[in-house]
Amino acid sequence: MSFTYAPAPESREIVTLQPSYDLFVNGDFVPALSGRSFSTTNPATEEPLADVASAGPEDVDRAVAAARAAFEGPWGKMRGSERAKFLFRIARVLQERAREFAVLETLDNGKPIRESRDVDVPLAAAHFFYHAGWADKLEHAGLGPAPRPLGVAGQIIPWNFPLLMAAWKLAPALAAGNTCVLKPAETTPLSALLLARVCQEADLPPGVVNVLTGAGDTGAALVAHRGVDKIAFTGSTEVGREIARAVAGTGRRLTLELGGKGANIVFEDAPIDQAVEGIVNGIFFNQGHVCCAGSRLLAQEPIAEPLLERLRQRLDTLRLGDPLDKNTDIGAINSKDQLDKIRALADSGEKEGAGRWSPPCRLPARGYWFPPTIFTNVSQSHRIAKEEIFGPVLSVLTFRTPAEAVAKANNTPYGLSAGIWTEKGSRILWMAQQLEAGVVWANTFNRFDPASPFGGYQESGFGREGGRHGLEAYLDA
Ligand code: ADP
Repeated sequence: MSFTYAPAPESREIVTLQPSYDLFVNGDFVPALSGRSFSTTNPATEEPLADVASAGPEDVDRAVAAARAAFEGPWGKMRGSERAKFLFRIARVLQERAREFAVLETLDNGKPIRESRDVDVPLAAAHFFYHAGWADKLEHAGLGPAPRPLGVAGQIIPWNFPLLMAAWKLAPALAAGNTCVLKPAETTPLSALLLARVCQEADLPPGVVNVLTGAGDTGAALVAHRGVDKIAFTGSTEVGREIARAVAGTGRRLTLELGGKGANIVFEDAPIDQAVEGIVNGIFFNQGHVCCAGSRLLAQEPIAEPLLERLRQRLDTLRLGDPLDKNTDIGAINSKDQLDKIRALADSGEKEGAGRWSPPCRLPARGYWFPPTIFTNVSQSHRIAKEEIFGPVLSVLTFRTPAEAVAKANNTPYGLSAGIWTEKGSRILWMAQQLEAGVVWANTFNRFDPASPFGGYQESGFGREGGRHGLEAYLDA
């Protein structure tokens, strides 16, 4: 039996949307010199939310100059203990304005309010708190006796965790003494602009953080700018490759956090109920718009059928719909483009012979929606087993022995995440050593902590974010 829920919508009153937004440069909101703008919409309703300035090369010039001046001026000369105070302040203001950030994020991104409220915003604040603690202890980070900041960091982020990715980028860069030019994704610019307001509220010196909104061409102009000392990018492998080409040979530093095709491996001795929750969290959290999603379920043969049976029952209880409803589990797909990509890949799964299943669920008439979907009888050569879908679609494969599980899990050009479900500690350790993935979770999935380094191998990129390792990306030892 499944419960019926009365609607429990979170009020959007707390958010005041401006009809249009400018760029954040040198501590102020300024119109784009390019004169261009774009519209950002609510993917759950297709309602336009605001017009947002689109930065051109001349705006990039201006922001990089402001960041350089701040680096050579007040910020570069400031003691770490003073820088820490700003980071603490930003963290506290984020907490004070948490509900506003959560509602805004859900409006612009389409993710369930439960997730933006309980995951994105608290983790973003935690990143600032954590890195504030490092600002005056950098010489103890194991990166040499007197590590120095790199200078101006150009940071380009995706739309799946807009505020959280901004925090992952800004907090370590600022703690290490760099200044930043941040480029949020074009479908989700609003929370980064609110974060710019928070920087003002925290009295961050002008130019330390600049926010340039725009699409891929804005990002490309930032990457090409010779005044930027370091590029940090999170996004698709395809764009990551382009950026690597642009930065190669320039002597500038680069970190890339790219796609993934994570394996979630369930052994026959796994605690089944927890594993089912872990599988659901692994692929349906944030509509599967997660680079480290557990998008391939590897189930050991003896339990594959009973596990799938439980999984289908669990999916039957997931609620898809209004992202602002506090009971919603699955929100909207972030954009029409992304929905088209998910549809095309799911259709290829069917065409290539895999079995497709979704629970009965009614999709809202407006907005971009895709039902939670499971594919069985998937073989390793299917596109849905190889390519990142970045949507609520799980491909199920089976295995017999631990060695076969490792071989299948590693049979991917990516290498970002993996999950292991078993009662045996020795097997967890053995598997974790064999798996070519930057993050391996055991009997859990999608667990994040600012103290824990995150990043990939191979086509999932290089460099780490979070923890002591993440500081290395912003310091010259
Ligand atoms: P996704 O597949 O998640 O949409 P993208 O890699 O296309 O990821 O986008 C991630 C970020 O990279 C966005 O902020 C986007 O505007 C930016 N971007 C897209 N193309 C380029 C490019 N050629 N150079 C720099 N940044 C880019």
